Amino acid sequence: PRSGFCSSNSIFYSKRKPVPLPSDPHLDVTTFLSSCRHCGTTALIDAASGRRVSFPTLWRSVAALASALSSRLSVRKGHVVLLLSPNSIHFPVVSLAVMSLGAVLTTTNPLNTPQEIAKQISDSDPILAFSTRPLVGKLPRDRDFPIVLLEDRRLAGDDTRIRYTIDELTAMEPDHRRQRELVSQDDTATLLYSSGTTGTSKGVVVTHRNMISMVQIIRSRLKLEEGGGALETFVCTIPMFHIYGLAVFATGLLGAGSTVVILSRFELGEMIRAIGEYGATYLPLVPPILVAMLNQAKPLPLGRLRRVLSGGAPLGREVIEGFQEKYPAVEILQWYGLTESTGMGASTDSAEESRRYGTAGLLSPNTEARIVDPETGTSLPVNRTGELWIRGPYVMKGYFKNPEATSSMLDSAEGWLRTGDICYVDEDGYLFVVDRLKELIKYKGYQVPPAELEALLLSHPEIADAAVIPFPDREVGQYPMAYIVRKAGSHLSETGVEFVAKQVAPYKRIRKVAFVSAIPKNPSGKILRKDIIKLATSNL
Ligand code: AMP
Repeated sequence: PRSGFCSSNSIFYSKRKPVPLPSDPHLDVTTFLSSCRHCGTTALIDAASGRRVSFPTLWRSVAALASALSSRLSVRKGHVVLLLSPNSIHFPVVSLAVMSLGAVLTTTNPLNTPQEIAKQISDSDPILAFSTRPLVGKLPRDRDFPIVLLEDRRLAGDDTRIRYTIDELTAMEPDHRRQRELVSQDDTATLLYSSGTTGTSKGVVVTHRNMISMVQIIRSRLKLEEGGGALETFVCTIPMFHIYGLAVFATGLLGAGSTVVILSRFELGEMIRAIGEYGATYLPLVPPILVAMLNQAKPLPLGRLRRVLSGGAPLGREVIEGFQEKYPAVEILQWYGLTESTGMGASTDSAEESRRYGTAGLLSPNTEARIVDPETGTSLPVNRTGELWIRGPYVMKGYFKNPEATSSMLDSAEGWLRTGDICYVDEDGYLFVVDRLKELIKYKGYQVPPAELEALLLSHPEIADAAVIPFPDREVGQYPMAYIVRKAGSHLSETGVEFVAKQVAPYKRIRKVAFVSAIPKNPSGKILRKDIIKLATSNL
């Protein structure tokens, strides 16, 4: 049976109707998206300035930029191109142009520190960077790759590595006769950074096939096919450097012909203004923003808004109930996924499905899942809790230049992705995410890898040992808490730990500290995080 639970081999098959995937092996995601024939008039709106970009203008800019990247900046298939920018109307143009060449797009959080960005650059080795004027200074000085500035003109005193502005490149006449390299669905499209189940950030190799299947799945789940998408307007405040934001503009805007209103960053007042002014119907969010909307004394005016999507972190029952009460005209849809699965995994498709509280929804179309006992490795039946493994056309190829991390996350022979999430599937096929086996902390939906903070703590001369764990918080989801063992004779205090904050992005800051005499570890020296979490939360 291709639905429900199949006990013979302990695999759960998605109950959703499978989506068709293009069979042509030579297809890049940009060409795939440009074939959408049901577009509305406006593709993009910059919320701050009101500037609008039509679909023909957008595609012309993408073609012009791809042509200029190839002829002026020698970008070729397989080259990595870095995009360091907040959300903007340039973000989709750059992403689509780079991917159309078979070059690899790597993005990074603009909040990251220069050191964090330098680390990603030395790992991914880009030949070119796109960035904005305020962010160019974060690009390491010792790399002399050319930079394209995402501004309309250059100014005296700009970084000398700036070779062009985006406007100069998109104004060039596209050379339609240029030699195009053949891009296959198996080629790498993006290199997005994620810490996975353990350790620090790694490049997630996402292929064109992964991206195309992601678009097809979202279109089918949100019922945006066959022209319906052209009637919808998305407000995108979630970051486009993350798979969630990339998915929103790639699917909403291009795969379905919808309008995407872009906010450069999250600010509640601005978001509400944009929803009203542009008649938004869809609002993709992370749970902390739903909590902020719920915490308002009076309901916010949401105009024509029909659906809020919640993804990136778990959404509690009381938030769903409270939100539905405060905003009865709006449906909440949950989405579960990982960067490593191109954002796919499970979703609820209606308010009714979301009312099966605690569920992340039914498995995405074209998905198989197993619930595996982490101790014994055996597959478990319905309603039993274990690690979720998923298999589908959106599962990453692996981690960039990191076979060891790849093999611990991905069973390459059989295609299973070990999600590191503790879940169960109920008798109706709904997935419930109950805990995290992996180390990851999620602060407002942003990834905080404990290993990074632990390494920084251990670099302090007065710290003998350290462990960082997620501390639960209603507003932000989780924040990093450090358990620290001082060296003999040290009187290090909580303020003494602030040196970490200077070296990491603000969302990674350690917000709670406890000093202990030893970090609980197993005989092989592995930190017993669950024990520490239990200790930290025992008084809550
Ligand atoms: P990222 O790669 O940044 O998207 O993080 C993926 C992780 O976020 C997952 O493995 C989960 O731990 C968590 N996550 C994402 N969506 C949900 C959800 N709807 N419910 C619970 N956890 C989620």
